[in-house]
Amino acid sequence: MNVAELLQQLVRIPSPNPPGDCAQIADFCAHFLRAAGYTTQRIAPDNRAWSVVATIGNDMGPSIMLHAHIDTVPLGQNARWNWDPFSGTLADGRIYGLGSVDDKAPLAAMLSVAADIAIQIDRMRGRLVIVCAADEEVGGTLGTRWLADNSFLPQCDFVVVGEQTANRVATANKGVVRATFRIGGRTAHATHPANGRNAINRMAHLILDLERYQRDVLDRRRHPLLGAPSINVGTITGGVSANVVADACLIRVDRRMIPGEDPEAVKAELAAVAAARQAHDPDCTYSVDEFLISPAFEASANDPLTAQLLAISAAVTNTPAEPVGYLPGSDAKHLTGVARRGMVVFGPGTYEVAHAPDEYTTVADLEATYTILRQFAEQTLLR
Ligand SMILES: [Zn+2]
Repeated sequence: MNVAELLQQLVRIPSPNPPGDCAQIADFCAHFLRAAGYTTQRIAPDNRAWSVVATIGNDMGPSIMLHAHIDTVPLGQNARWNWDPFSGTLADGRIYGLGSVDDKAPLAAMLSVAADIAIQIDRMRGRLVIVCAADEEVGGTLGTRWLADNSFLPQCDFVVVGEQTANRVATANKGVVRATFRIGGRTAHATHPANGRNAINRMAHLILDLERYQRDVLDRRRHPLLGAPSINVGTITGGVSANVVADACLIRVDRRMIPGEDPEAVKAELAAVAAARQAHDPDCTYSVDEFLISPAFEASANDPLTAQLLAISAAVTNTPAEPVGYLPGSDAKHLTGVARRGMVVFGPGTYEVAHAPDEYTTVADLEATYTILRQFAEQTLLR
């Protein structure tokens, strides 16, 4: 089975999360790796979030981990696909389907490389670890975080986290702080708005404060690969009826962090925005809570194995041998204690076609990923 056929097979095994049942796709990966000769564990903290960890090789050289997640986002409620999302249809040089790029494309490339290395086991000087992880799309608590915390992941010299980097080598990704701002006002009949304290009007001012925070504070911080941090107001909720002064309003925000920003300091900055408004407006209550933190990730590009992967990917894709940033989050944040020397995010395609109808990977991109990872594994693990 070539890498494109393998990707089609993986797309035909649905693994949307939620609900996050990865039993079937984990079975497929475990069977594939066991048949190739790997020592394979299929494990889960519950009866849904099944992950696979497979190992081959010896202690006579470096240890390399190839990691991809096996869950996908769910189908959108109004998503209209031109292709059956679970068919893995090949058309015009593209393979279509839910998870066809995120993250079953790097998974297919990694499984293919795993099989190639296994048949050359006599030449192996080192260890190859393949991780097929559940639960990434909802944060990885039951997937990679759980695997790392419960010692299912061996320490490795170098880790490749498969995601959508257009076959460039990414050495950093952004983190996130999510938070909820709340304003409590006072209700009144709409004929006398001045008798109440309108929480929605006040939230409008607070949102403008957040725009200023972006412009005056965040835009001045820059990471060389990831640019500036950002804040987005994603939802707003408030009021009960047009003829009542709203006494409550809340917004949910997504604050993207660059490496070097401390999540606790970011929380304090958001609290300071609320406190500054509160100081002007003692008749209402301002607060920020429901923080959800996902740290940023950054690795050195000076590590020799990173430099080697950079050189191979530059040669195969005809791009500069320089690292890039990856804007979305990834499981890399859970693997910082596992990677002894270097860690990168790497894979075909772009995250902008993921999480959307007619998600696809081009066969050419997929084959380039496979070629790059195979050359890297052969150069580092075979003698
Ligand atoms: Zn992904």
